[in-house]
Parts: sequence; structure tokens; C-alpha cells
Amino acid sequence: MSKLYYSREEMQRLNTEKLQERGVSINDIAIIAYNQQYRYNKDIKMEDCVESVQKILSLRDIFHLVQLGAEIDRLVEEKAFKGPIQDIIASDLGVFGIDEIFGLDIARLYGAIGQTNFGDIDVNKPGIVAKLNEEGKAASAKCHTFLDDIVGAIAAAASTRVAQIWSEDEAAKLNKE
Ligand code: MG
Repeated sequence: MSKLYYSREEMQRLNTEKLQERGVSINDIAIIAYNQQYRYNKDIKMEDCVESVQKILSLRDIFHLVQLGAEIDRLVEEKAFKGPIQDIIASDLGVFGIDEIFGLDIARLYGAIGQTNFGDIDVNKPGIVAKLNEEGKAASAKCHTFLDDIVGAIAAAASTRVAQIWSEDEAAKLNKE
């Protein structure tokens, strides 16, 4: 019988390994979340961004999206798809949009703010997102069509989560006064 159910610790570990295999570290994602929130709040801490990325990577919905998206990219690199979809994904066609659906679904976990934060990262392509995008678009055999959106959306979700935690802490302080 094949294994279908994974604990949160297992999902976090498997996601971290999968991202690493594809050239992305937790820190690469956390730094995007940090820089995004730092624009609004100078009290943001990098360790909270790292912790948020790790938490998000342990969620079942995210597990399925990361694992599937990374495998699609890998299979495209191996030219394993038949028909027009192979070239459409390999060329990272601008009007394809299914990769953005993966990103939006991840960002949606953190509501409207999560989605607008994803939009910001999708347009401005900070750090590792730009690297993946360029590597995927270059004449190399690399494909990051799904991964760049997944990584950008996890960063957006982490950034939003950090802002929510900060708001909770502020409320707790005010309630003590
Ligand atoms: Mg993409």
C-alpha cells in the first residue's frame, strides 16, 4: 500500500527538500517576505519570516501544490509531456496562466492582502523569483514556470502572516496598558 498521508513535520521536510532540489532555500523565500514587510514596518524580524515560511510549507494544500508544481517543471525539463502543452510550459508562455493559479491559490490562504502581496512579487520579481524566471526563460534546459509563482506566493503568504502576528502582538501590548 502506498503512503498517502503525511504529518505536518514530514510535509515541511519534503517541501524543503523539493525546493532545495530545484535550487530554492527557505532563506531565499524568507528574505523576499522580509523585504516586502520592511517597507511598511521597520520592526519586522527575519527569524519571524523564516518561521512563517516553515509553517506555510507544513500545510497540506501547500504540500500538494509545491510537490505537483515542482514535478511539472521537472517533467517539462525531461520533455515528458506529449502534445502542445510541453512547448507551452517550456517557453513559459505569458498567456498560459495556470502557474499563476497555483500562486493565487497559495496566496489566497492569507486573504486579499496575501493576494495583493503576491501580485506585487509577481510583477516586481525580487531575489530568487527573478533568478528562477531568468533561468527558466534562458536557452538552458531549465523550466521554472510553476516554481517561480509557487515561491513568490509562499513569500507573499509568509509576509502577510508576519504582519498578522505583529498586529496580534501590538494588540496584546495595548491591552496590557
Ligand atoms: Mg510562472
